[in-house]
Amino acid sequence: MDAASNQPSSIDPAEVEYKVRQIVAQSLDLEVEQVKPSSLLADELGAQSLDLLDMAFMLEREFKIQFPRTDIWERMTDYFGEENLMVDGVVTDYGRELLGRAMPETDVASLRPNANAQDVMRLLNVETFVRIVLRLLEAKAQFPRECPDCGAQMQESDVMPEFVCPQCGKIVPLPSGDDVLMQDLVTVADAAKTERSDTHEVPAS
Ligand SMILES: [Zn+2]
Repeated sequence: MDAASNQPSSIDPAEVEYKVRQIVAQSLDLEVEQVKPSSLLADELGAQSLDLLDMAFMLEREFKIQFPRTDIWERMTDYFGEENLMVDGVVTDYGRELLGRAMPETDVASLRPNANAQDVMRLLNVETFVRIVLRLLEAKAQFPRECPDCGAQMQESDVMPEFVCPQCGKIVPLPSGDDVLMQDLVTVADAAKTERSDTHEVPAS
């Protein structure tokens, strides 16, 4: 067992992956060896929605990050409109393309032709959580540490996902997982739009 790292600037992907596997295993009462990065959370490990929530809370505590409160499909439909992503209950080609770009670790090609929102959630694997944790640790590391009120160097709280100014007491929450992942989603959608604009009709956003 290695000790918890207190250095937010040093992100070790292998260590993050192992801790995510440990948390998934603990949550599902499995041995860590049974939890592989490629393991499908629902179909292979048997995770239910409540288990996923449980894992999200444990990952927040472990890494002091704000895990997203929405899932990928909620974020996509909120931003792009469900009518652009699903027609008659079936995920559109555009929806599949966005999913593939936003979740490169998943096998989007395996979605059945008449896939629905539930099928999308069944794509999630352990690596999906690893990717999200690494992304949120990166966002935390890049967050400006200068206090917006007095200019002193803020410090990360030991107990809450926030920064605290030692000089004036200002508290600034970490960037939320929803915001970070939504920005990433918009970025991949813009890339898709640019590549498609020559030959395809692009849904208005
Ligand atoms: Zn301050």
